[in-house]
Amino acid sequence: MESDTRLTDYIDKSILQTIQDSFSDMTGLAAITTNADGSAVTEGSGFCRFCTELNRKCPLGKQLCEYSDKTGAMGTHMNGRPNWYKCHAGLIDFSAPIVVGGEMIGCFVGGQVITEAPDEAKCREHAARIGADPDEYWAALKEVNIVSEDRIQKAMDFLYTISGVLSDMAYSKYNTEKANVEIERATRMKSDFLANMSHEIRTPMNAVIGMAEMALREDLPESARRYISQIKSSGRALLTIIDDILDFSRIESGKMNISPVEYEPVSLFNGVAGIIMTRLMDKNIELVLNLNVDMPRLLYGDCTRIRQVLINLANNAVKFTDSGQVRFVVDFSRIDDEYIMLNVSVEDTGIGIKQENLEKIFDSFSQVDSKRNRSTEGTGLGLAISRELLNLMNGQLHVESEYKRGSVFSFKLPQKVIDPAPTMVVKDPDKALVIGMFRNEYVADGFTWDASKLGVSAMLLAPDADLVLAADTAIKRNPDRKLYLFVDQELFDSEKRAFLEKNPDITGVMVSEFFSTVDNGPDNLLIARKPLSAMSLTMIINHGNTGFEDVTEKAEVMSFTAPDAGILIVEDNPVNLTVTEGLLEPLGMNIKTASSGKEAIRKIEEEHFDLILMDHMMPEMDGVETTRIIRRMYPDYADVPIIALTANAVSGVKDVFLSEGMNDFITKPVELRTLASVIRKWLPADKVNQEL
Ligand code: ADP
Repeated sequence: MESDTRLTDYIDKSILQTIQDSFSDMTGLAAITTNADGSAVTEGSGFCRFCTELNRKCPLGKQLCEYSDKTGAMGTHMNGRPNWYKCHAGLIDFSAPIVVGGEMIGCFVGGQVITEAPDEAKCREHAARIGADPDEYWAALKEVNIVSEDRIQKAMDFLYTISGVLSDMAYSKYNTEKANVEIERATRMKSDFLANMSHEIRTPMNAVIGMAEMALREDLPESARRYISQIKSSGRALLTIIDDILDFSRIESGKMNISPVEYEPVSLFNGVAGIIMTRLMDKNIELVLNLNVDMPRLLYGDCTRIRQVLINLANNAVKFTDSGQVRFVVDFSRIDDEYIMLNVSVEDTGIGIKQENLEKIFDSFSQVDSKRNRSTEGTGLGLAISRELLNLMNGQLHVESEYKRGSVFSFKLPQKVIDPAPTMVVKDPDKALVIGMFRNEYVADGFTWDASKLGVSAMLLAPDADLVLAADTAIKRNPDRKLYLFVDQELFDSEKRAFLEKNPDITGVMVSEFFSTVDNGPDNLLIARKPLSAMSLTMIINHGNTGFEDVTEKAEVMSFTAPDAGILIVEDNPVNLTVTEGLLEPLGMNIKTASSGKEAIRKIEEEHFDLILMDHMMPEMDGVETTRIIRRMYPDYADVPIIALTANAVSGVKDVFLSEGMNDFITKPVELRTLASVIRKWLPADKVNQEL
């Protein structure tokens, strides 16, 4: 225990005061509680004038009083039993120690009485010694209670019992604190271990994934291509697990920060739907997105964490569903002028969860029915993390499930509204008529639901209906409305194409699978990638386009070259250097490398680079130090972008890089897509050739 421990570290002053006041009331004796050094902790109760106004007012008297209190308590402590003594002024005091872990941290003092009439001469002599007025001193002493020894003994025993109870109280607090310190230490060690482990794994994974990526560019036999693709996707899966474990440890150690920003909820949900579409693979699942069309345009919240939760829930829905649908329902209700409650649910028609397992699925590292789930990978952390993230944002995760029928995971989350204007408003809903022809009932349902929310009249046709006839009739009946024909790609045959060509006033919308390739059609034919949503309907009716960036184009990450740009890669690990260099090869840049901070500085003295990729952790001089030197000593490099490469995925690291003069950062393993887009963002525009 610390030597300067105060009694109030363990017991509240108010508790001490209350107990001591009651003691004084009951016994009619004075009482005070002190620290181990004799300094008062409480206000004295029932103190006599002799002590308060005379002894304790003179500096020497006060010192002697404290000394008496302390030595009296020490005596008790050493003898292990209550002990009474005469103070410097001849009053009888008794004291009981408050002890924690064998050490005295304070004492409980009572007394200020005498057992027989005082001696005036001695009294006056002592007054002179401590610097008090002898007349007043004698007068005050005469007011002090004269009490029998028997009463003193009883009060002393009582006091000793009380101090024992106080010692027990202090001891249990001491033990709790000790245990807390121990727990904190263990948690810190665990988080440090996890952070280091993640760092150590990320570095070699950079090589594994990067090399696989490069190998896939080569002309390979089909089987080798498959193997290497598998290496790459397994590598990515491993990284997801590491990220989950890191998140989990952050949450556990209370280090998970929520960083709210302004965001557009509709883009967020559309974006997640897009990501999930890419994961459906060859499963016979329809992804349906139901967005409340009145969703405010701009909200304030941690959209990164909301996205993470959504992706977790949606990935599970896809993972545990073989056929049917996965549906996102995004709704909200108003809380007040400033806040809304987002109500989001992810529904699936998958394997469902038995009633008795519903609570277990939120336990970390737990997967229920693991025999049945053997084919599906995972750590059992996703739901635990999602629930905690939502809790941190004042939200709540809820699950309902029917075994073998499907599950609904939903959450409620309060969000601040920045711009309440609805994102999706069809300008003239009564001037439009949408006709849909889909093979899938979920898509058909979603389509009519969205149209009705937007106030647009909708008609559904069976997949084998005569679309041309139906459209002709609709035109005749609704001469004032513009007609939009939404047709599944598979149902879009030459007859429909010819019909559109003949009727340029009608807009055709071919609803295509996310990854399928689509032939060009007539000018009045638009392509809408699934999932169709109120957002795509709004865009088509208002603007005549789907507002959807073409994914096939997006997949072309290297859609530029920069043959005139010079780039310096600084990295101490030769394998990773090769990886980064290899990944960049298609950009055709002039690439130079340096394997240490010192070498980097030599290189920038020799020639000018347009961009520097700087590894963070390097022996001798790390990336941050090297950047600091470049920024301070080389004015030519004041504006040259320096991008950190780091295997440190701990949040907050970005701020460190930015404050140290770097412009951006890329986490390892370096992803081709990220690398290309960051380089494109920071390279001077005149060095980028957009021609590809
Ligand atoms: P993981 O998916 O990595 O195993 P989670 O914490 O996300 O971990 O999920 C825990 C368990 O909950 C899963 O292993 C599965 O048994 C069950 N589960 C989660 N989502 C669903 C779902 N949509 N349908 C059926 N079971 C689910």
